[in-house]
Amino acid sequence: MMGQQTGVQDKLFYSFNLDDHVPRSHLLRSVDRFFDLGDLRKHLAPFCSHTGRPSIDPELMVRMLIVGYCFGIRSKRRLCEEVHLNLAYRWFCRLGLDDAVPDHSTFSKNRHGRFSDSEALRHVFESVLRRCMIEGLVAGEGFAIDASVIKADASRARGVSGVETIDWSQGEWQSRAVREYIEALEENNPTDDDIPASTESTTPPKNISLTDPAARWTAAPGGPAFYAYSTNYLIDLQAGIIVDVQATPAYRSQEVESTKIMVDRVAQRFNLRPRRLVGDTAYGTGPMLGWMVQEKGIEPHVPVWDKTERKDGAFSTIDFAWDEQANEHRCPQGHALRRDRRVFKSPRARITKADTVIYRPSQSDCTSCSQKDQCCPNTPTRKIARSIHEAERNVARAIAATPEYQQSRCERKKVEMLFAHLKRILKLDRLRLRGLSGAQDEFLLAATTQNLRRMAKWLMPSFQKAQEMPA
Ligand code: SF4
Repeated sequence: MMGQQTGVQDKLFYSFNLDDHVPRSHLLRSVDRFFDLGDLRKHLAPFCSHTGRPSIDPELMVRMLIVGYCFGIRSKRRLCEEVHLNLAYRWFCRLGLDDAVPDHSTFSKNRHGRFSDSEALRHVFESVLRRCMIEGLVAGEGFAIDASVIKADASRARGVSGVETIDWSQGEWQSRAVREYIEALEENNPTDDDIPASTESTTPPKNISLTDPAARWTAAPGGPAFYAYSTNYLIDLQAGIIVDVQATPAYRSQEVESTKIMVDRVAQRFNLRPRRLVGDTAYGTGPMLGWMVQEKGIEPHVPVWDKTERKDGAFSTIDFAWDEQANEHRCPQGHALRRDRRVFKSPRARITKADTVIYRPSQSDCTSCSQKDQCCPNTPTRKIARSIHEAERNVARAIAATPEYQQSRCERKKVEMLFAHLKRILKLDRLRLRGLSGAQDEFLLAATTQNLRRMAKWLMPSFQKAQEMPA
C-alpha cells in the first residue's frame, strides 16, 4: 500500500539531540575524538582585551575552519552557510540548533588581529601534532622533506616586468599583501650602514604581481606561468604525520632553506631529532649536505646534486682521481691538478662563491698531451671545481648504495601523497588569502586537517570501514 504524508503538523515542543543525528562513522566524529582545543583560550588570553563586548569564541572559529578544510569548503561565506544548515557541522562546532553562526567577515578580522599576534594557528597545529605523538604515530627516526607549488590569488594580468620600477606608495597598491611585502623587503635590505647588506641573489624576478608581490612568477610543465607560493612539508616517515610546515615563495633556494628552519623548530619544540632525512635532488646540494652531516649529524638519504658529468664525451670529474693527502687531483695522464701552483707567503683560501675550490694542471702538461681533445677540447687547460662539501657529498653517495636508501626512496612517496591529497581532497590548489602570511595560515590549517584525518584513519576502525565502503 502506498503511503502518504499526513500534512505538516507543527509540534509545540521537540525533543532533539544533535548527537543522535550524526552518523557513528561520520568523518567529523573521528576527527573530534582527537581534536582538543582546551588550552586555546589560555593561549589567546594575553592578546584579548579585558573590556568591551565579548568576542566570538576562538574555539568555534577554529572548529569552523577545520570543517572548511576537511570538506574542501574554501569560501568563508559558503562555510558559514554550510555550518548553519548542516547538523554534523553544527555538532562538531558545538553549536546548538538555534545558535547563531558567526558572520564570514569575523574570520578576516581575527586572522589579522589576535590570531596573527598570538600565532594561534601554529599553536593549533602543534597541539594536534602533540596528540599524534601521544598516540604513538610519530617515531622521530626518519623524516622526509618536499615542497609543492600552490597558485597564489593573483591574476596573471595584474603583473609587471620585474625590472620595472614600481612606486608602491600609490594609494591603489596599499593593500595588506603589498605592505607586508615592502616590510619584508626593508627587513632583508636594511639601509643602516652598520648592518651588512643581504647576500641573497639580487636577480630581479621575471614578473611581479601588483596584487600579491611576494608570490613568485613560476612556470609549470605544460602550462602557462602563474604566481605561486610553495608549501614545504617535513613529515615523519612512520605514519606520514606532518611534523612541520612552512610557506615560502616558489623559489627552490627558499624551499631548501626552509628545511633548516623546520628541522631546528621541531628539535626545539618537540625534541625530535631524526637519524635520517629523505628528500629529492633539490636537497642534495653541497651546502645542504654539509649542514645535514656536519652540523646536525643527520644521514642524508638524498641524491647528490651533481653537474660534473660532461655531455660532450670529454672526461668527467670522476676520471680525475683524488689524492687527499697531497690535496690534488690526478688526470688520466697521471699529471697533478693543484689548487696553487706556487707557494704564497700568506696562504689563500681560494673558495669561490659556489663553495668550490678550483684545481688546475700545468699548462705545459696539457699543451703536449695526446688526450687533450678528450679532456679540454675548447680550452687551453682543464680545470676541476671541487666542492668544499665533497666529504659530505661522498657520505650521501655511500648511503645511496645501501638497501636502506632504497627503502627511503619508497617511503618518500608518503609526502608526495600528502600533496596529492591536499590538492584533490582538500581542494587547496589555489590560495584564497594573499601575502606570505596568508599562505602560511592556509598551509598550517591544511596540515592540521591532514594530521587529524590521518589520526582518524589510523586509530578509528569505524572511519577506516566507512572509507573502504563503495560510494
Ligand atoms: S689535457 Fe691536461 S689535464 Fe687533461 S689529460 Fe691531458 S694533461 Fe691531463
